[in-house]
Amino acid sequence: MVSRVIPVDPFDLVIFGGTGDLARRKILPGLYRRFLAGQMPEEARVIGAARSEMSDDDYRAMIGQSIREFVARGKQDEEAIGKFLARVHYVAIDATGEAGWKALKAATRKDVIQVVYFSVAPSLFGPLAERLHQKGIACATCRIVVEKPFGRDLATARALNGTLAEHFHENQIYRIDHYLGKETVQNLMAVRFGNMLFEPLWNAQYVDHIQITAAETVGVGGRGSYYDKSGAMRDMVQNHLMQLLCLIAMEPPSQFEPDAVRDEKLKVIRALDPVAPEEIVRGQYQPNGAAPGYRQDVQNAESLTESFIAMRLHVSNWRWKGTPFYLRTGKKLKARASEIAVVFKDPPHSIFGQQEGRRGNVLAIKLQPNEGMTLRVTIKEPGPGGMRLVEVPLDMSFAEALGPNGTDIPDAYERLVMDVVRGNQTLFMRDDEVEAAWAWADPVIAGWEERGDRPCAYEPGSAGPEEAQILMHRDGRRWREIRE
Ligand code: NAD
Repeated sequence: MVSRVIPVDPFDLVIFGGTGDLARRKILPGLYRRFLAGQMPEEARVIGAARSEMSDDDYRAMIGQSIREFVARGKQDEEAIGKFLARVHYVAIDATGEAGWKALKAATRKDVIQVVYFSVAPSLFGPLAERLHQKGIACATCRIVVEKPFGRDLATARALNGTLAEHFHENQIYRIDHYLGKETVQNLMAVRFGNMLFEPLWNAQYVDHIQITAAETVGVGGRGSYYDKSGAMRDMVQNHLMQLLCLIAMEPPSQFEPDAVRDEKLKVIRALDPVAPEEIVRGQYQPNGAAPGYRQDVQNAESLTESFIAMRLHVSNWRWKGTPFYLRTGKKLKARASEIAVVFKDPPHSIFGQQEGRRGNVLAIKLQPNEGMTLRVTIKEPGPGGMRLVEVPLDMSFAEALGPNGTDIPDAYERLVMDVVRGNQTLFMRDDEVEAAWAWADPVIAGWEERGDRPCAYEPGSAGPEEAQILMHRDGRRWREIRE
């Protein structure tokens, strides 16, 4: 298959927080990969901006180091790294101060696409947006990229949207959710809306239930104090899992066009029923030998914040009435695995007799670690011995189907940054979507806070608390195994 990398137009990308973890681990290595693939044009420039004083050369050395650390060995071409770094610059600037803006203005061009990535704490979004205007840096078509967390409830999200709206039009604001940058997430839309096979079955009549899992093996690490004020609901469900649910549940948009897609996603969030207390299981990982548990990790012996959550949701509309959506996410689970599984109903009658029972199909969409899709189908077990049925996966692995291009899937960040440069907002959250998701999440969180619910205990390396298994078993269903 011929590579179809289409270079984007020349751009200046200013990364505030250019020395931070996200910039060094994801954004700049991703840009290098796009440069190597021929998508980032020679005329493009990247300008790191942060508080520390350093020269262009110091910054290039830092980013060169990041590329060598975070880009696969096979892609570390020294000549290309040198050429890429020649396009990287640095400006020392304090987002809340007055110094450095002149230098930034001088470093940016007016005749190319202008993108400013806010890779800094959300408390700096306001001062930064204000100064970009005051100092005459942001042009009328300047695009800004903002990171999560986008608020911690509806009130703070609204305030943040209001602040950004004072300086930028909604079509200039790109709220990034890296889950939406996954190849398979977009493929989900291609599979649903580009084939006749699935869409007629994509409803409560044929789909028994849907499971969305985002499991991590790591604990809260160094983010303890931040995480303890957030928890799995705010950190993962309100944004990432909600976005996945929207793509699975939404009606076909009239066109694959940003606002048409986002209108449909918004309708899904607004159709969510309130969640009853018995439909939620929250958990905290326990100590394991010398390894600290959640409360030790966050240094809060009284913490009631969840490092795991499982919930059953209902989308109250014609398509989905009666099909539950089960969501779960957590830290220190048995494997790092994110997937969406669409579990179809059993055939209404088994012609193969009681013994062979009835078997449903499962479409599993794997987001990480290996992106791909599998459709579980029932076939006859080969060989003599009568009609014995077995389940086999029809594997839609990109590597096999698409050859070398299938294995060379861009990372979510690099894809999304290129989308910003192209001016395509389809995979970015609109203000009303974010607010609707908080409007749904707020009463759920307030409910457990008012009741004083205590998270259940779970063993590190497990599939979460026993109670989460029971949540499914009560409905006569089971979670899929968490595995890579
Ligand atoms: P970090 O603490 O590693 O880096 C913060 C950066 O901001 C540094 O470059 C620092 O110099 C700069 N900075 C701080 N105050 C500044 C100021 N007043 N003016 C100019 N620059 C200033 O943080 P990070 O992990 O890179 O995260 C950045 C943002 O991205 C945060 O909002 C975070 O929530 C979000 N985020 C990070 C990740 C990740 O994987 N690191 C993932 C999702 C979202």
